[in-house]
Amino acid sequence: MADKKKPLVIVESRAKVRTISKILGSGYTVASCQGHLVDLPSSGLAVDVENGFEPQYEFIKEKSEVIDEIRELWKKAGDVYLACDPDREGEAISWFLKEYIGKALGDVKNLKRITFNEITKKAVLEAIENPRDINIELVEAQKARRILDRLVGYQISPILWVQTRYGLSAGRVQTVALKIICDREKEIRKFVPVPYFSISAELSKDSEVFGADLFKYMGEKIGSPNDKKVKVIGSKEEADEIINSIKKQEFKVKSVKVRTEKRNPPRPFITSTLQQAANNILGFSSRKTMSVAQRLYEGKDIGGGEVVGLITYMRTDSPRIAEEAISNIRWYIDNEYGEKYLHKEVRRYRAGREAQDAHEAIRPTSVNRTPDSIKKYISRDEYNLYKLIWSRTVAVQMAPAQVKRLTVEIEAGDGLFKATGAKIIFDGFFKVMPETRSEERELPDMKEGDIVALKKIEAKQHSTQPPPRYTEASLVRKMQEVGIGRPSTYAPTISVLLNRKYVTQEGRTLIPTDTGELVADMLVGSFKDIFKVKYTARMEEELDLIEEGKENWRDVLSKFNNELNRYLKGAEKRMEKIKKEKEVIVDYIKCDKCGSPMMIKYGKGGRFLGCSAYPNCKNQKPFKEENGKIVLLEELYKDERCDECGAQMVVKGGRFGIFLACSRYPECKFTKSIYYDTGVKCPREGCDGTLVEKKTKKRRTFYGCSNYPDCDYALWQKPVKAECPKCGAKFLVVKGRGSNKRLVCVTEGCGYETEYNGE
Ligand SMILES: [Zn+2]
Ligand SMILES: [Zn+2]
Ligand SMILES: [Zn+2]
Ligand SMILES: [Zn+2]
Repeated sequence: MADKKKPLVIVESRAKVRTISKILGSGYTVASCQGHLVDLPSSGLAVDVENGFEPQYEFIKEKSEVIDEIRELWKKAGDVYLACDPDREGEAISWFLKEYIGKALGDVKNLKRITFNEITKKAVLEAIENPRDINIELVEAQKARRILDRLVGYQISPILWVQTRYGLSAGRVQTVALKIICDREKEIRKFVPVPYFSISAELSKDSEVFGADLFKYMGEKIGSPNDKKVKVIGSKEEADEIINSIKKQEFKVKSVKVRTEKRNPPRPFITSTLQQAANNILGFSSRKTMSVAQRLYEGKDIGGGEVVGLITYMRTDSPRIAEEAISNIRWYIDNEYGEKYLHKEVRRYRAGREAQDAHEAIRPTSVNRTPDSIKKYISRDEYNLYKLIWSRTVAVQMAPAQVKRLTVEIEAGDGLFKATGAKIIFDGFFKVMPETRSEERELPDMKEGDIVALKKIEAKQHSTQPPPRYTEASLVRKMQEVGIGRPSTYAPTISVLLNRKYVTQEGRTLIPTDTGELVADMLVGSFKDIFKVKYTARMEEELDLIEEGKENWRDVLSKFNNELNRYLKGAEKRMEKIKKEKEVIVDYIKCDKCGSPMMIKYGKGGRFLGCSAYPNCKNQKPFKEENGKIVLLEELYKDERCDECGAQMVVKGGRFGIFLACSRYPECKFTKSIYYDTGVKCPREGCDGTLVEKKTKKRRTFYGCSNYPDCDYALWQKPVKAECPKCGAKFLVVKGRGSNKRLVCVTEGCGYETEYNGE
């Protein structure tokens, strides 16, 4: 009698192997295939466009050891359970295992696909009891996406390459995201700030001091130029005139209004909202959020030999929470915080599409594992993210917070002032999400007809602000809003833009590079629809329809390819034209070798000025754009003197970038790096300088005020423009190196710190 063969469970990561082995015990063999084993080869199109878009998959070379190992285990196994993640990628990996390993071994009869949203004993055992077949529609949706991206990348990148003479690449979704970032940059550049004034008063009642703002004057509402329907105080003179007409008047309470406002908790986390919250609150990049979440999902050792997945699957766009989890959460709230903190009705959320509804929101696998109870078993990042998820999930079933809002209108001559107060009368879900607490502001007791004393009245200058640059959080929100991403694609899309240097990061903001803007303009300009938000969103929907079995993957690809081919014709010409349009002649700067005007050109390192007589004259010069005007760097640094011999310094470009060298070279070999202006305003009061990079006599870099020697403000660490969310400081500094880089606030006693991925 032969022994009964051990069943084999295949998952895609080592961490999952560890957790699932613990759960299933020695009766099962658990192995990891470490992600995809086959893929399209890295060179060539590898898609048979003529024959139904059949992809020519190949085994991934680096995976040969893993492949051999899986093959050997498969031969010895009884039943084979494919337990890859519950989404398109996981389904595709399972299918590849079946097609490329199982079928090759002639052994797929005992094959079972199992999925679970959480790696807990109960969920895994239930899945083993309820295996299913591979869902071919999910596999086809994954296949269609891979081929779509390949069709774009391999047909468009070479044209881009011809036009720019260096290796750039085009991506489908990533180009649309890049376009969104570049469009915003153009808006910011076009933006002209308009100054305006506001008037605020410091008043007192029974020696309690409070603030009030002028909101109406002579019956007209006062506001900012952004609001077309209000009166704008446009100058200091106008503001002073109003102040003079008001300040001698009696300040009398005209009305007191009280209302109670309910604040409801936010919805459960899905991938996009988790990435946004982790970016805003913890300073995590989307990529970091996903990798920390994955560790929590795949299982942690939480003492006593217990290894368990702490959260549900992190790639999801369903806000649904399983009924059993809901009742545990409600029981927990009732017990821990009391009945009045429990929301009367159960809050339930559903996904927009039926296909997504099999998934669940991102939640803790057990509400009883409070963040503090497992703190000592997990890393600081894991703890912070877990706490965010745990709190949000509990908050969903908690009662709304109640805030009492007080609005007092105070009349003074022709002016009407408004003072507002807020008091939290019931904290509700704020109890577990203190970061959402609204600010409280006390007002003294006042009633209609009361006279209050004016202590101070002043005009404050403001100016209208350009729309803000995107952060990872706001870009993910935008991508989700317009429908051009899915849970598995937000983080990789942003990473690609950063890796290809189409976008750089300053603090948390994303800024397009010269190259990024050129690529976006050329691609969107020559391929119109293909890289439009609407079209890309429709493609995402088509992929969803394939997944739901309502569309045929070959039809979707064929429609797309026809469209793409239409635009491929003549694309090269159009790209060339767009690039030419951007390579404008700067007639106010003449070549110092031949007298021809210089023009803006694009190279590997971004934009530079080249002689318009090229190729007869090959003169090139670095420049900077300041308020729409082109300035040669040599012009900017013409007063720079050599530290060693006092001769003039000249701008040189080389393999290591641009630097200043002594004009007496080779007799004097002194060089120094270009003063890099960080753009951060000097924080010293009354100083209008900016912080620029400098070197000490001993060549150590520091950042000092551009108004030196009038202002001697200086820092060792590089400052970046980013507002401190804790104390409101206008910049943060970079500390640490490599993957340990952080942004830190230098305000004494503030202590704010966040993760940093920029340079
Ligand atoms: Zn020239
Ligand atoms: Zn010198
Ligand atoms: Zn200064
Ligand atoms: Zn601070």
